[in-house]
Amino acid sequence: MSRHVFPIAAALTILAVVLSAASLWSFLWTSPSGAVRLSLIQGCAMLWWGEPGDLFSHGGGLRVGGWSGRAIIWKPEFEPANSVMVQTGPPPAPGGMPPLKQIVGLSVVVPAWLLIPVPSVIAGITFRGWRRDRRIRAGRCASCNYDVRGLKDRCPECGRPIPSSPVRRAIAAVMARLRPRPVSVLTPARSLAP
Ligand SMILES: [Zn+2]
Repeated sequence: MSRHVFPIAAALTILAVVLSAASLWSFLWTSPSGAVRLSLIQGCAMLWWGEPGDLFSHGGGLRVGGWSGRAIIWKPEFEPANSVMVQTGPPPAPGGMPPLKQIVGLSVVVPAWLLIPVPSVIAGITFRGWRRDRRIRAGRCASCNYDVRGLKDRCPECGRPIPSSPVRRAIAAVMARLRPRPVSVLTPARSLAP
């Protein structure tokens, strides 16, 4: 199973890291009705849900702003009746104050870093099984990666038994995964011995 799970978990980890980095900029999407806004901003993914016309939409679509990482939101936040001041249109004159109004809506904030731990832990757990499986399929020793094609019995490098046929190699890959991993024991350095 590690064979299929590891690549997916690794790809999701990379995606989560990329999204976390991207959320330090501001990516805003406002629904055409002006009621819903999804944003990747201040290190988090944010959803605002209000009344139609609440939010001033710059013609819809994704609007990319500048650096927003100065006030990073680290923890999830949920506000069922969040009240904020919003701009309702462009300023009447260049350099003037834009029209503002107060709106009340539901807001949910999920820090982007929260997406990283789950796939990265799964990738870490499944990595060894994936590597072992890949080595056996490539005709290499599962434990030391020595090329054992054409060899029989045991790996000359580490002494591990070599599966002789593709079917037995597949069985050995499954068995190796079921077997408990050997615990490495630290031995004192020889130079310290009397
Ligand atoms: Zn070996």
